[in-house]
Amino acid sequence: MHADAPGNLFVVAAPSGAGKSSLVKALLELDSHLAVSVSHTTRKPRGQEQNGREYWFVEMAEFRRMVDDGDFIEWAEVHGNCYGTSRRAVEARLAQGEDVVLEIDYQGALQIKKLFAHAVLIFILPPSWEELRQRLHRRGEDQPDVIVQRMENARHEVDQARHFDFVIINGLFETALFDLKTVVHSQRLRYAAQLRNKSAVFSALGLV
Ligand code: GDP
Ligand code: ADP
Ligand code: 5GP
Repeated sequence: MHADAPGNLFVVAAPSGAGKSSLVKALLELDSHLAVSVSHTTRKPRGQEQNGREYWFVEMAEFRRMVDDGDFIEWAEVHGNCYGTSRRAVEARLAQGEDVVLEIDYQGALQIKKLFAHAVLIFILPPSWEELRQRLHRRGEDQPDVIVQRMENARHEVDQARHFDFVIINGLFETALFDLKTVVHSQRLRYAAQLRNKSAVFSALGLV
């Protein structure tokens, strides 16, 4: 991974049910310069999930082979399943100047920050524990014992928010989406990004 790759790398983490997927999905619909990286996982697909859309669903043996071959820029075990981000897809997109979003857990986010110092780490918090529990139930995708496990893990996960660059509280969805858009937009106003993307203006002003 090259620190001077032209695209921005955004990493979004949250405890399960905080609204990370909903927010990222809404952001992508508004922003054609962003692409989300589709992770590999050993978790079984949920009802509506399609291979290659939400995740690449693989068996444990295949996942292990990919780890051994160095195919992942990060991987972690989360709630008893393995998840990993494919190196090839992310590096190719960044090199083309595309901004990339990773929707991954905090362990993966911290690995990415070590590899890629310019990555922007964003943590999504629920407005309360009660609201988080209700969202996991309302989503209706996980068995009650899985929900209990995810709520237990959430205590430790939210404690990791302190290591992130930005924190967004997903109370009112539209407000949280606005906040997420603002973080993405602000990165594109950085001097180096403006110089790259608005070179004609810089040159007309005699700045380059
Ligand atoms: P997935 O991307 O198919 O896994 O869907 P999600 O679980 O992320 O979200 C389910 C649906 O709820 C999506 O159509 C979201 O856009 C929608 N949604 C999520 N949060 C809100 C909200 O706060 N208000 C409204 N009106 N819709 C929401
Ligand atoms: P995650 O990807 O973090 O596990 P989801 O995006 O699947 O979370 O959201 C969990 C549930 O909460 C979904 O049913 C989603 O529709 C709902 N949700 C997300 N954001 C909000 C919000 N701001 N207010 C109410 N419900 C929300
Ligand atoms: P879910 O099973 O609810 O889709 O995801 C469970 C957890 O795994 C979430 O915290 C999610 O962010 C994380 N996750 C998904 N893909 C990856 C990945 O590629 N790498 C890492 N480290 N975590 C991931």
